[in-house]
Amino acid sequence: MEFDVAIIGAGPAGLTAAIYSARYGLKTVVFEDPSRISQLALAPFIENYPGYEGTGLDLISKMKDQALKFGAEHKLERVEDVRREGDIFVIKADSGEYKAKAIIIATGGKHRELGIEGEKEFVGRGVSYCAVCDGFFFRGKKVAVIGGGNTALADAIYLKDLGCDVFVIHRRESFRADQALQKQFFDKGIPVLWNTVVERIEGGSKVERIIVKNIQTGEIKEIEVDGVFIAIGIQPQTEIALKLGVEMDSYGYIKVDKRQRTNVEGVFAAGDCCDNPLKQAITACGDGAVAAYSAYEYVTNRFGTK
Ligand code: NAP
Repeated sequence: MEFDVAIIGAGPAGLTAAIYSARYGLKTVVFEDPSRISQLALAPFIENYPGYEGTGLDLISKMKDQALKFGAEHKLERVEDVRREGDIFVIKADSGEYKAKAIIIATGGKHRELGIEGEKEFVGRGVSYCAVCDGFFFRGKKVAVIGGGNTALADAIYLKDLGCDVFVIHRRESFRADQALQKQFFDKGIPVLWNTVVERIEGGSKVERIIVKNIQTGEIKEIEVDGVFIAIGIQPQTEIALKLGVEMDSYGYIKVDKRQRTNVEGVFAAGDCCDNPLKQAITACGDGAVAAYSAYEYVTNRFGTK
């Protein structure tokens, strides 16, 4: 199966690239790894995407429908490898090999881990990285949300609205989340433990308590909790990019120019896996549109118009 453009990743960047690429008349395929979920799909509510207010899942479903409507093919398959054979890229996915003239990497990011004792052990038994997926099980229970960015505050508000007894633990004494979100958060009266880090998560068959330390006073205390939601940011997913010889910045994000071109000819990148300054659905979509345009220029210049 040969495509003009293969897009790896089906978050807002990948799906926007698919919409634009298909509308340029390019034979387009978008790969979605069944074991991964877009960060956007996990957002309990979105209110800074122009013209839209609602859940992240609803927004991403609409994007996918739109991409399919314009003729992009969607493959629910993990891409294991991409290699170059002459002018063509060969993509090794779960069901076999595909060929494409250009590649758009839109692999996004994966939640970061704290790396503390008890974290891995209690995943699915009280430790979660996704309030939207798991919050329901904690209604009426005491939960801690760890982090100080948009995700942590949005998760805390979501959990509070679900009926959880929620509090936030943050390692500094101010949040980095948007001011508008901070206002909503403080209006809810959700308590915060400032300057505090979690040292350990403990329990039996499920989480029962956390051991926290105030990094200013050195005081250590034990807090009984039923759940721990970890929302400390994302790390870029760039395995495929590395295999293609794509250059990264010192933080591990893919280096792109204003046209979303990487250092490898025919390989473009978009969204949270890139070294862009703002990681939002709207900027990921913008990246995706530009990447599709650059891929269109590349394919038509190099291989001729169809
Ligand atoms: P983030 O903005 O990178 O914030 C991560 C937070 O976790 C920071 O407060 C950070 O503390 C803390 N942290 C990091 N490592 C830690 C550690 N080892 N121990 C304790 N705390 C740690 O991540 P995010 O909130 O997931 O957001 C990621 C991107 O998605 C951002 O660009 C965000 O704007 C975007 N986003 C947007 C929306 C929306 O628009 N609706 C919703 C969610 C996310 P410090 O502050 O001390 O560094």
